[in-house]
Amino acid sequence: MNVPLLDLVAQYRGIKDELLPALQAVIESQQFIMGPGVARLEAEIARLSRARHGIGCASGTDALLLPLKVLQLRPGDEVITTPFTFFATAGTVHNAGGTPVFVDIEPETFNVAPVAVEAALTARTRALLPVHLFGQMAALERLLPLAERRDLRVIEDAAQAIGARRRIAGEWRLAGELGWVTGFSFYPSKNLGAWGDGGMMVTSDDAVADRLRKLRLHGGPKQYHHDEVGTNSRLDTLQAAVLLGKLPHLAAWSARRREHAAYYSEALADVPQVRTPCVDPTNEHVFHAYTLRVERRDELQARLQREGIGTAVYYPIPLHLQKCFSHLGYKLGQLPEAERAAGEVLSLPIYPELARPQLDYVIDAIRGFYR
Ligand SMILES: *Cc1c(COP(=O)(O)O)cnc(C)c1O
Repeated sequence: MNVPLLDLVAQYRGIKDELLPALQAVIESQQFIMGPGVARLEAEIARLSRARHGIGCASGTDALLLPLKVLQLRPGDEVITTPFTFFATAGTVHNAGGTPVFVDIEPETFNVAPVAVEAALTARTRALLPVHLFGQMAALERLLPLAERRDLRVIEDAAQAIGARRRIAGEWRLAGELGWVTGFSFYPSKNLGAWGDGGMMVTSDDAVADRLRKLRLHGGPKQYHHDEVGTNSRLDTLQAAVLLGKLPHLAAWSARRREHAAYYSEALADVPQVRTPCVDPTNEHVFHAYTLRVERRDELQARLQREGIGTAVYYPIPLHLQKCFSHLGYKLGQLPEAERAAGEVLSLPIYPELARPQLDYVIDAIRGFYR
């Protein structure tokens, strides 16, 4: 049997007849840039995350870079974030002119540890950049008060967490609802994936929404009138049509991911060499990734690959140990939980279209390896 890490062709087969006419309509209209579908998608994503504004942009990376640019960071200005994430989280801080400050994670959720964030606050801290890693929200109810006290901005990296929720003070809060600005990615492998690159920022701050709308169009509110220097970072109309076609399926896809996760976790619960993902009871996870901690990780991964099972290591080198950040002076051993996670994690196939026999095949292979 073959169980790839992700099978986008399986998803395509299921939705092709719905999506292709919408793409054809965009092609017939020839309105590829800022066509009407873009505004519709912006409204839908804003609604989904209970924010007032959605602003489409070219990628999830730009959805973090543009709000960081709004902050007009000066050299030495600090943004506190996690080292256990995709590179873009910290790369954008650097590219916006600031310094990423890496703090350790909670071993259970892999998300940034609020106590570590608090300990890293300095007079130069300008913003917090938590990541809702693998589809589970970070502890915003502890980060937001820290930010409020010092007038810091909170930018949520929700690239992996569209539609995720967390119960805060007795109420469900969506990824994107509480942060100053939140970035989503529509990279094809994300839970809501385009057929190319794409991203979206959401915010409930009217003034910031205005700034972001300008920044993605060379800083001009009106063509050929430039208030500030921005860039070209638009979501194109064809991608908006794909995403509008997929959006009605997202809740069911997330539910399928949770079902698969529960099935794996139950079947692997008694394997002592495997620790299944820990879902914080106040979170509704959307399982962008289903990530185990395992013994003899690299050997297990090689064995699964030989048996036709795709897996991935997200992420093998924490960002504080990346060569490009060596000038920041972090040392091995400094952020032990992130470093331990990097050595132990293995993500299994979790896409919605997986069938039960495929899950059983993965489970049997893992159990067989440790037997
Ligand atoms: C995918 C991702 C991004 C960047 O998104 P792109 O659309 O690939 O630019 C940023 N942060 C995290 C955590 C991601 O997973």
